Amino acid sequence: AAAGSASAIKQVKLEKESELRIEVGHETPLRIRLVSGTAEIFGTEMPPEIWLSFPPRHKFAVFTWYGATIDMDGDTETDYTADETPMVSYVNVHAILDARRNRAKASASDSESPQGPRVIVVGPTDSGKSTLTRMLLSWAAKQGWKPTFVDLDIGQGSITIPGCISATPIELPIDPVEGVPLEMPLVYFFGHVTPSNNVELYKVLVKELAHTLERQFSGNAESRAAGMVINTMGWIEGVGYELLQHAIDTFKANVVLVLGQEKLFSMLKKDVLKINPNVDVVKLQRSGGVVSRNPKFRQKFRSLRTREYFYGLTNDLSPHANIANFSDLFIYRIGGGPQAPHSALPIGAKPVADPLRLAPVNINRDLLHVVLAVSFATEPDQIVSSNVAGFIYVTEVDIQRKKVTYLAPSPGELPGKFLVMGTLTWLET
Ligand code: ADP
Repeated sequence: AAAGSASAIKQVKLEKESELRIEVGHETPLRIRLVSGTAEIFGTEMPPEIWLSFPPRHKFAVFTWYGATIDMDGDTETDYTADETPMVSYVNVHAILDARRNRAKASASDSESPQGPRVIVVGPTDSGKSTLTRMLLSWAAKQGWKPTFVDLDIGQGSITIPGCISATPIELPIDPVEGVPLEMPLVYFFGHVTPSNNVELYKVLVKELAHTLERQFSGNAESRAAGMVINTMGWIEGVGYELLQHAIDTFKANVVLVLGQEKLFSMLKKDVLKINPNVDVVKLQRSGGVVSRNPKFRQKFRSLRTREYFYGLTNDLSPHANIANFSDLFIYRIGGGPQAPHSALPIGAKPVADPLRLAPVNINRDLLHVVLAVSFATEPDQIVSSNVAGFIYVTEVDIQRKKVTYLAPSPGELPGKFLVMGTLTWLET
């Protein structure tokens, strides 16, 4: 323990195939270490004898296949041991995926480069989708594959800030504390935290992301064989269901993993197999350890993700404040603000606003606290279909002097000329 701290270290002995479920206390971090045996955190092995520090409110589990002893140092909101987990069924899925990767690799010299598994994980909110996605990726990476992680969850994504869909290759098991490395992901900016703000745009971006990955795969047999694991949103009713089908279709998913919902499973099985009988639709049990997060927690989590982008997980980054003239900023908005989803309109009616219309944004006080994406587009008409380099955050709008102050992750000129605005804001705390 830290010098002067009298806090007792709690030791936990885990039997084989059991897990220690932890929610870190709300004020201080928690340290844990593996004393003996072997254990993993969401698919990534714990190093022996090394203290790992988890931030406040973090929720996770330490699972062991063969038994382990764990030391805990610090406050927890809850910690308990569970011996009933769906981990065996999850690792069986991994084994099947792995065999398919091997098969794809073995026949990679054939004229048509074969495709490894394209897995999509679906289910209601808080069913453990992100966690299962992470385990499948980490187990694959441990075996030497470089699977592509695709995150379509614009509300609670794990690759970059909220409001985006993105993809990144996973080359090493995902760090249990740091999460997915943020180096150079492929990111498309939607700009809202729920797709209902612009369903058409969401679909267009999903298509763009899929096409870009398809292009990358065609030149890279290794990542093609490793395949992808796609995490989705928890919105599974109505338009949400339509978007799931759209994603399955667009990414040519060949394995659909449905977590914890019988109805969703039977609907998808019917609808997906109608279009492509070769897709495996598999039902998996939700883990009893998955913690439900209320809207307030989700909001807080989103804010933390944005903060992390600019300041780093442990305040290890220092963003730069820059000042620009109004006339130097070219900000665009896509679509005409929030609009009713198609399903809310009378049959046959079309929404009036074109959801893909590009409109220049007049700079005024409304820009304050807005998060803007820096597009890679070189012409305005490329903005809708372009991915983004990163984000800036507006901290001050001086109407009189016509100047905007913003935070950027690094100093110097922005990596693109055009900025994209949605409804994404952040209040720095
Ligand atoms: P979803 O992606 O379906 O919304 P998540 O995978 O993000 O759900 O899980 C919700 C929360 O529960 C996360 O904070 C996650 O870390 C936590 N969690 C998932 N599985 C476990 C487990 N077995 N033990 C403890 N916490 C867990």
